[in-house]
Amino acid sequence: MFDVIIVGGGAAGFYAAIHIAEANPAFKIAILERGKEVLTKVKVSGGGRCNVTHAEFDPNELVKNYPRGEKELRGPFHTYCSGDTIAFFDKRGITLKIEEDGRMFPESNTSQTIVDCFTSEAERLGIKLLRNSSVVAIETVQKSEESPLDGWMIASIQKKYYAKKLLVTTGSNPKIWKLLEKLGHTIVPPVPSLFTFNIKDDRIDGIPGVSAYASVEVLEKTLPSKVTINLKSKVASKALLVSEGPLLITHWGMSGPAILKLSAWGARMLNDWNYRFKIKVNWLPEYEEEGMLQLLLQIKGVEAKKTVLRTNAVAIPKRLWVHLVKASDISEEVKWADVTKIQLQQLAKELTAGEYQVDGKSTFKEEFVTAGGVDLKEINFKTYESKIVTNLFFAGEVINVDAITGGFNFQNAWTSGYISAQAIAAKKISS
Ligand SMILES: Cc1cc2nc3c(=O)[nH]c(=O)nc-3n(C[C@H](O)[C@H](O)[C@H](O)COP(=O)(O)OP(=O)(O)OC[C@H]3O[C@@H](n4cnc5c(N)ncnc54)[C@H](O)[C@@H]3O)c2cc1C
Repeated sequence: MFDVIIVGGGAAGFYAAIHIAEANPAFKIAILERGKEVLTKVKVSGGGRCNVTHAEFDPNELVKNYPRGEKELRGPFHTYCSGDTIAFFDKRGITLKIEEDGRMFPESNTSQTIVDCFTSEAERLGIKLLRNSSVVAIETVQKSEESPLDGWMIASIQKKYYAKKLLVTTGSNPKIWKLLEKLGHTIVPPVPSLFTFNIKDDRIDGIPGVSAYASVEVLEKTLPSKVTINLKSKVASKALLVSEGPLLITHWGMSGPAILKLSAWGARMLNDWNYRFKIKVNWLPEYEEEGMLQLLLQIKGVEAKKTVLRTNAVAIPKRLWVHLVKASDISEEVKWADVTKIQLQQLAKELTAGEYQVDGKSTFKEEFVTAGGVDLKEINFKTYESKIVTNLFFAGEVINVDAITGGFNFQNAWTSGYISAQAIAAKKISS
């Protein structure tokens, strides 16, 4: 019998447990974790370094990194933001450092620092950790011969537990979503977010590791040939997505922030399209096709005696230049003086508006998340309590919130963990 049971021993579960215990030391708190280890995702996160949060301290800017949750997180971030996360770890002797792109990691460069901090804090605060306790049933109960209190019965395969309040922090777990549906909640169907694009194309073949700052547009779904032109143009005009940032060529296609952002913002649409669609890449976003042609014509005048292939005239990696020149039907020995306008038009197109066919996706190993979960309309974001069932709270990825890569997904876990904890610790219940 507990005051509060937290189902799920991950990032949000631990963060909430620690804050409940600090806010209300008299509370009996238990974390039920299905695995024999806790915090397994924290351990592997950020390539083993744990990208704890992001150095974005303005809540109105921070929310822009959440394809799902942008509107709802505004209030919560005004209550608890990345600066509070930094202070939490600092108070416990862990300094977070900022990398050039704003991502924040523990100075130790290992996620074990974060795992150790959480487990030692849980022990210090007397939080009961029940490992190997996969929750299979959740029911509201009333005080009776069966139940010692008004509140919740939470059953693992082996045991039944009772608690006055329940906090669910099970991440993207389909079984728990089913149980929540039984309690009357709507679950937005899960789809993957944060993935890379599979592209087989000579223009990027054999140059993995090449990276450039690019702008990328999702053009249209690749439709089976029997679908009519009408539908095709409708889909394309409605569903356009654009992003800009570093783009990394991989063995399988394209990755890097420019691609990952599209995968997050387009998570549901690209899933509907079965991950078959066309993109347009501009390797020099400060130019449009016509401006690029003018630039190439100028270079033709200046570099007349040199070969096109060996004179990388624009700011893109050399190996990429070579591939795009070849793709424009300009052979190795052709000099700038001899290159035709048609060839330069083709090269300008390749540099600023090359189209690529995406055929499937791959996992981004550093971080992947699931879009979907408890419908945001059914949660009170001042407390993270369910609007459907009283004394039921949520935190972390179990709700329909997810972010682009950069430490934002953990910040969602910390903010929701903290706010739900304050509400749980403060709410009085008669037993
Ligand atoms: C490889 C990888 C790397 C990542 N790196 C980063 C990063 O560097 N920065 C960042 O911001 N985000 C990162 N993320 C995303 C981040 O890990 C998640 O957004 C975050 O862990 C969500 O926290 P959570 O507590 O909601 O869920 P989780 O951390 O997934 O925890 C849920 C817990 O609930 C338990 N559970 C599930 N079902 C049951 C059940 N029935 N009974 C009992 N327990 C149950 C699970 O075993 C788990 O321990 C990464 C994700 C992955 C997969």
